[in-house]
Amino acid sequence: MFISDSLTINNNGHLAIGGADVVSLAEKYGTPLYIMDEDKIRRTCREYNNALKECYGDNFLVFYASKAFSSKYIYKVIDSEGFGTDVVSGGELYTALKAGFPAGKIAFHGNNKTPAEIEFALKNNIRDFVVDNVFELHLLDETAKKLGVRAKISFRIKPGVDAHTHDFIKTGQIDSKFGVALENGEAFDIIKEALTLSNIELCGVHCHIGSQIFDAEPFSHAAEIMMQFMASIKNEFGYELSELNLGGGFGIRYTEKDDPNSIYESVKNFTDTVKCEAQKHGLKLPFISIEPGRSVVAESGITVYTVGSVKNIPGVRTYVSVDGGMTDNPRYALYGAEYMMLLPERPSAKPSGKVTVAGRNCESGDLLGEDVPLPEVTPGDLLTVLTTGAYNYSMASNYNRVPRPPVVMVNHGEDKLIIKRETYEDLIANDLM
Ligand SMILES: *Cc1c(COP(=O)(O)O)cnc(C)c1O
Repeated sequence: MFISDSLTINNNGHLAIGGADVVSLAEKYGTPLYIMDEDKIRRTCREYNNALKECYGDNFLVFYASKAFSSKYIYKVIDSEGFGTDVVSGGELYTALKAGFPAGKIAFHGNNKTPAEIEFALKNNIRDFVVDNVFELHLLDETAKKLGVRAKISFRIKPGVDAHTHDFIKTGQIDSKFGVALENGEAFDIIKEALTLSNIELCGVHCHIGSQIFDAEPFSHAAEIMMQFMASIKNEFGYELSELNLGGGFGIRYTEKDDPNSIYESVKNFTDTVKCEAQKHGLKLPFISIEPGRSVVAESGITVYTVGSVKNIPGVRTYVSVDGGMTDNPRYALYGAEYMMLLPERPSAKPSGKVTVAGRNCESGDLLGEDVPLPEVTPGDLLTVLTTGAYNYSMASNYNRVPRPPVVMVNHGEDKLIIKRETYEDLIANDLM
């Protein structure tokens, strides 16, 4: 009955996640509180690996795009499921390495990696860099030369595919800050350049066409364009690229309106395209990678708040204020992202009306949702926002000097604290005077 199969109603009539009572966890750890279901994350990882294995054999690696949720523990979980990981900053790389994640399965992304980050990554022998632009290409070549190593790379290509998604999370078209474009020859030029550099080992091409994509078609369209591009590289330069990375962006369900393809359908679709194009152009089957972030963790997570004031403005709206907000989930404030909410103490209670759920931060735009159907709410009630496993903790801030909430991981009814609640002392730890 719930949007995620992690959620059930238990014998107390409470909401449970991964078999653990949400109300008890809120009592034990306080609110606001993020809760994630480890078993759900692991099941999703296996779905990706099994689908790729079945459709494409062993010549693949799934990289978890860790910007969706980065912490030491998640790197341990996804490592144990046989995934690689993407990082987009020195901080994510540091966290992954500290978690013991194998450097040989880490890829470094981003449109403006700093010289210090590049050096840090090279010194730690990460698997590869997804190079964004020609400035970075030369910086990487020079840094690799200085360190006496060769940097393995692929290029971030804009395939010009319409991903049918929100403007803010669409990245495959020419007017994007990420990557080099195909249609104006930029992609060709940068590959030509890379082949002349002695400390660069060019292995593949990469595209990431956006996020929260429900259809399989944009992925296979991108795969087709990228394979054609690989064929033209081979024809032009006599150089056969061995790796194709099709990025992330697989859609998930935030609300009942969302209707994504299954993981299997998407994988089947683009692997069929890759095989077909390889045959058509006489290319070897490339090593394939994908980079799901949101779809690995989003549906495994919820956030629990305590309701404070309930402000009914007759003829206008009712504001239900909670003890968190844009500091732990900025996605409604940023791009109007919709979430489902319910009261974990009585999850099956029928909605009595629609309310605006507001945060506790000093911005009028600090809302978690508008027109949210909820039963009668009174101060002190717990309120749960569903599907917050991705881009919530990782986007959290200390605006208004609000400490970040803790993260509890549950697994088959057992709970453990994987990130502790920030304290006021943490908030002043960097204040020198
Ligand atoms: C953000 C991002 C991803 C992950 O996207 P999701 O929508 O979370 O799956 C993968 N690859 C790249 C390059 C990204 O920037």
